[in-house]
Amino acid sequence: MKITPVGAALEVTGSSFLLETESERFLVDCGLFQGGPDAEERNREFPFKPKEISAVFLTHAHLDHCGRLPLLQKQGFSGSIYTTAPTRDVAQFILLDAAKLQEEDAERESRKKLRAGETPVLPLYTEQDVVYTLSQFRPVIYEQAFSPAEDLQVTFRQSGHILGSAFLEFRQGDKTVVFSGDLGSPRRNVVPDPALPSTCDLVFCESTYGDRMHKSR
Ligand SMILES: [Zn+2]
Repeated sequence: MKITPVGAALEVTGSSFLLETESERFLVDCGLFQGGPDAEERNREFPFKPKEISAVFLTHAHLDHCGRLPLLQKQGFSGSIYTTAPTRDVAQFILLDAAKLQEEDAERESRKKLRAGETPVLPLYTEQDVVYTLSQFRPVIYEQAFSPAEDLQVTFRQSGHILGSAFLEFRQGDKTVVFSGDLGSPRRNVVPDPALPSTCDLVFCESTYGDRMHKSR
């Protein structure tokens, strides 16, 4: 399996990994780039062909992990989006809200452009694109391995970050790769404690707060 980070490497937003097996291509997350002068431009282009992606595995519903799914769909992705049922439910609100904001921003920007005799701008995606995308979601159950492709097993495990969040274990042959998504801390009242990963060969771990200590709760 070949794994390429296509976002959130040496930065915080736009989380996404491209996974390539001999016959198929998958994504882990498809997040929105947020902030910075080039975020708008980076959000519009994928460094791969969306229609060649067989499936997406979504760790959780924050915008920097799911925010470009409607654009992926709009640009030709027609596969399944595997995630937990609560993540699907939360993502529905997050994505519809994001589409509404993008439509409003584009409308405001277009008015300015038209006054200056320039071409109007299109929103990244619309609420209708989100509706299509939501129909691609396939709920999975924590701790139940499933096989989205031959010789590939995927397990969603509790990451304790937000409602529905998971870290992912991919097993191919005798190798196991873990994608942490975002991790929460234990002993909070609102989400379960994170599970511990199995023995694995490779870990892709978020490190947003990796260089500081959290305050005691
Ligand atoms: Zn998050």
